[in-house]
Amino acid sequence: QRMISPKPREEDQVVEKSLRPKKLAEYIGQEKVLANLKIAIAAAQQRKEPLDHTLFYGPPGLGKTTLSTILANEMGVNIKITSGPAIERAGDLAAILTNLKKDDLLFIDEVHRLNRAVEEVMYPAMEDFALDIIVGKGPSARNLRLKLPRFTVVGATTRLALLTSPLRDRFGSVHRLEFYSLEAMTDIVRRSAALLKSPMDDAGALEIARRARGTPRVVNRLLRRVRDFALVMADNHITLEVAQAALTSLEIDDLGLDENDRRVLRTLIETFNGGPVGLTTLAAATAEEVDAIEDVYEPYLLQLGFIQRTPRGRIATRRAYDHLGLSFPEAPRP
Ligand code: ADP
Repeated sequence: QRMISPKPREEDQVVEKSLRPKKLAEYIGQEKVLANLKIAIAAAQQRKEPLDHTLFYGPPGLGKTTLSTILANEMGVNIKITSGPAIERAGDLAAILTNLKKDDLLFIDEVHRLNRAVEEVMYPAMEDFALDIIVGKGPSARNLRLKLPRFTVVGATTRLALLTSPLRDRFGSVHRLEFYSLEAMTDIVRRSAALLKSPMDDAGALEIARRARGTPRVVNRLLRRVRDFALVMADNHITLEVAQAALTSLEIDDLGLDENDRRVLRTLIETFNGGPVGLTTLAAATAEEVDAIEDVYEPYLLQLGFIQRTPRGRIATRRAYDHLGLSFPEAPRP
């Protein structure tokens, strides 16, 4: 398990909960999304209706779950949390839906992983607040339509392209989360350090923020490691030197890349002459899962401009060569 993986790890859970912003006013960054959500909340409250079904998409660790709980808090409603893979059969979803109370918010993480049969149940539930069930068997079977209370589905996905279009169309508001700016990341790490009662100077905050891949989950995890170093090295005070010592020991470089990112880049450059190479081939050559490359490695490497997606596959850019200290081939690729 990587230190800088944006996917949740078990050790994160307790601390993450305590660091999670609970109100819009506490939420840092994602200004565009926030502005739209504020309007949606105000409009729903004025109409005395539940929020429109809402979809958040973007790489892991950027705040999709956090925003969903904030929506529930701001609306003053209950939130039920589940995920695509957890709802195995249509009956599982029917059980969840029939337990919802008026205005409840149903959060479905990894909503692109709902299976076909479950999706079929979702459509009328989201559109008409109705549950279609078949009672009886054979010739005497008939359709029964149950009315559900009005509720809000909030979906989250790392892979918008894998969502079927009928499901996607049923979300009235769709928001893309982006990697956070350095400024926002610095504010987030300051806020977290204050909540954890860790004294930290500005240079220390900036150093941790800089290496956390624009991802709040990662910055909080790095902060915890840096705190350990601070306790042992520097009387509990987080300074630039403490942050550098901790992050260097974790082999996280200036841009937040770890040994695994560098290995993927090096394979792309050295084994495949910088590409283009297909995703499956790259995954096989680096012994990584295709999903891990697409969800975890690639978004940040694309963001840095280290790789590009082309119709023929991934290619490494000059920046990637420079970062690894390799010389960029001036001749056209073979
Ligand atoms: P996702 O659902 O997109 O994987 P989460 O919502 O679980 O991500 O966010 C991961 C952690 O990052 C949260 O527990 C929270 O502590 C922190 N976090 C996310 N967004 C912010 C933010 N804007 N400000 C402060 N902390 C944040």
